[in-house]
Order: sequence, then C-alpha cells, then structure tokens
Amino acid sequence: MTPLDKLIAYFEKFPGIGARQAKRFAFHVLTVSECIECHRFFSQSRATPNGLCSICDDMTRDRSKLLMVARDTDIQAIERSGIYDGLYFVLGGTISLLNPPEANAKLRTGAFRQLIEKRLEENLSEMILAFAVNPDGENTTRYIQGVLRDISGTEKLKVSELGRGLSTGSELEYADSETIKSAFNNRS
Ligand SMILES: [Zn+2]
Repeated sequence: MTPLDKLIAYFEKFPGIGARQAKRFAFHVLTVSECIECHRFFSQSRATPNGLCSICDDMTRDRSKLLMVARDTDIQAIERSGIYDGLYFVLGGTISLLNPPEANAKLRTGAFRQLIEKRLEENLSEMILAFAVNPDGENTTRYIQGVLRDISGTEKLKVSELGRGLSTGSELEYADSETIKSAFNNRS
C-alpha cells in the first residue's frame, strides 16, 4: 500500500465519506507544506524554493517583530485586519492546565528557541504573544515568557501581550478586524 492509498483508506473510515471524497481529501492533505520558519501550513503550489511560506519569504515585512499564535487560523484573522506587517510563529496549540506535561511536548517549543536565536541576530526587537484571554491562553503566555527568559540575548527584547486588548474569553480566530486593530494598539 502506498502512503496515498493508506491515507485514502483512512479517510474512507469516516462516516458518510465515500471513495471519491476520501481520494479528494487525501490529495488535499498531500499538497500542503509546513513553513520551515513560522510552521504554518500553505499550499505546495505557492511554495518558495527555500521552504518558506509567502509571509516569511516577503522581505518587505518588518523583521523586528515576531508574533506568536496558537494556530494557523489566528494568522488568517490578523492578516485580514491588515494592521500587522511583522513575522509569525505558530506554536501548534496552547498549554492546558488540565493536560499532562507530556501533552505539551507536542508544541513547537524547540523550533521556537531556534527561530528566536536566529531572529535575534537579525535585530528582532519585539515579541508579541497573541493567545486567547482564557486560563489556557494565560498559562501559555507565562510559559513562553519563561522560555524567553532562558534564552540569552532576550533581555532587551520587548515582550508584549495582545490578549490584554481583547475581551475576556475571546479567541483571536473569531475576532473581527476592528477588535484586532484595537488589541494591537493597546498591546502592553
Ligand atoms: Zn512562514
């Protein structure tokens, strides 16, 4: 069985998914790449030769700012608002107070350390943490602040939180552009 056949067989197990639809899903999954720097997923047809997504590869973007989000969909919401022109990093989730510590190993903390070291050499001056205003989001913010304190060279880095400009419980993904703009203007 080829990996494609295996993937098709996997999708066919879902209730209500026929052979044709399973094949379509499998092709879709196989044509998505993960950016080597920000780790967001993008269509392979838009891949750059260096493995970067269109945002990381865009030299007109402000490389002094790096914004961390939990999921890819948060980036879409911020890009739609048009207020941010820096770079991103997708952590891959949040750290739940209820999760066992092993669950946190799935997050891209190691890749983040590597990227931050590289960006510091490229004059990174602000790190923006953009997690939801709920206990998991706040827990994740504190965890990443700790990771940053462990990395040498981050002493001069301004670390701000976007969440303070969002209302309690709100998820970035569902916030409208005006809310996101005001969250950026009020970040601290
Ligand atoms: Zn990228």
